[in-house]
Amino acid sequence: MNNVGEVLNDVDLKNYTSLKIGGHAKYLVKPRNIGELQNLLEYIHENNMKYLVLGNGTNVILDDSDFNGIIIKLDYFKDIVFCENEVTVGSGVSLAFLSKTTLNNGFVSLGFASMIPGNVGGSVVGNAGCYGHEIMEFVKSVEVMDKNGEIFVIDRKDISYGYRYTSLKDKYIVLNVVFTLSKGDVNAAYEEIIQNNAKRMETQPLNYHNVGSVFRNPENASAGKMIDDLKLKGYTIGGAKVSDKHANFIINNDNASFKDFVDLINHVKKEVKDAYQIDLVVEPSIIKWDKL
Ligand SMILES: Cc1cc2nc3c(=O)[nH]c(=O)nc-3n(C[C@H](O)[C@H](O)[C@H](O)COP(=O)(O)OP(=O)(O)OC[C@H]3O[C@@H](n4cnc5c(N)ncnc54)[C@H](O)[C@@H]3O)c2cc1C
Repeated sequence: MNNVGEVLNDVDLKNYTSLKIGGHAKYLVKPRNIGELQNLLEYIHENNMKYLVLGNGTNVILDDSDFNGIIIKLDYFKDIVFCENEVTVGSGVSLAFLSKTTLNNGFVSLGFASMIPGNVGGSVVGNAGCYGHEIMEFVKSVEVMDKNGEIFVIDRKDISYGYRYTSLKDKYIVLNVVFTLSKGDVNAAYEEIIQNNAKRMETQPLNYHNVGSVFRNPENASAGKMIDDLKLKGYTIGGAKVSDKHANFIINNDNASFKDFVDLINHVKKEVKDAYQIDLVVEPSIIKWDKL
């Protein structure tokens, strides 16, 4: 593997996800630029290998068997370039850092995203959001690479997207994103962030390894409330547990395995289906190596 970037061997993926679940990957590669990423994709195709692009690992539940493939991380894609009311951002930039940097430049649009713990690439492909906003609202265009190493710029109008979804997912590697931003009252935005942060600390089990909300809220209903009403808070399978603090969080309470976690998700889904005839949809991606 030549000129593909920084290569790490036999990597414990637990250390790369917020949930701290995952097997060992044969390689984890961090290309330093577009050319190295193209070389890496060529190597992958020539050797008929599987790969997964990982951002900050806060929206994935990773298989804990060993992965005889390549994890790609775009940690070196870290540029942030302002041009009037637009900012072009590398997909490896953390959303929290981007939110703060844009606020410090007088732009309030991405203030809502300051507590979403993902990177820009992962957040755009999943259209992350909270407090009535979603990231695609502010995207002007996205620079992507396809599986053959070809690069395209896609305007927002050509991307289909909705609640925690875009058509980019599993199709392209996001390289850079251009956001259109608006100026506003930065002090008020920071005040709102402080209040929202306090609310999250109070209501979410942030001192346990977790993957954020596990289920999407069905239309006009709260997944957390349904699970809470079914008295499932505290329900445990192996090391995985429905949080006592917030019923829509499942925590890695004690060295949970992938199976513990998925079994508990399925148990909760079944209980909700039996009680309410609603099929809950899982928000994070459940990644099985043999399905890649
Ligand atoms: C405590 C906590 C709070 C959270 N709060 C919120 C919230 O308020 N709102 C919200 O929407 N989410 C929330 N999340 C979930 C998560 O942080 C977001 O979904 C985030 O945007 C995921 O980004 P990531 O970089 O961690 O993606 P990852 O988990 O690394 O990846 C997610 C998916 O995107 C793909 N991907 C990653 N990078 C790229 C790329 N460059 N190109 C193509 N595909 C890529 C991966 O293959 C994977 O399928 C929360 C999670 C936690 C743990």
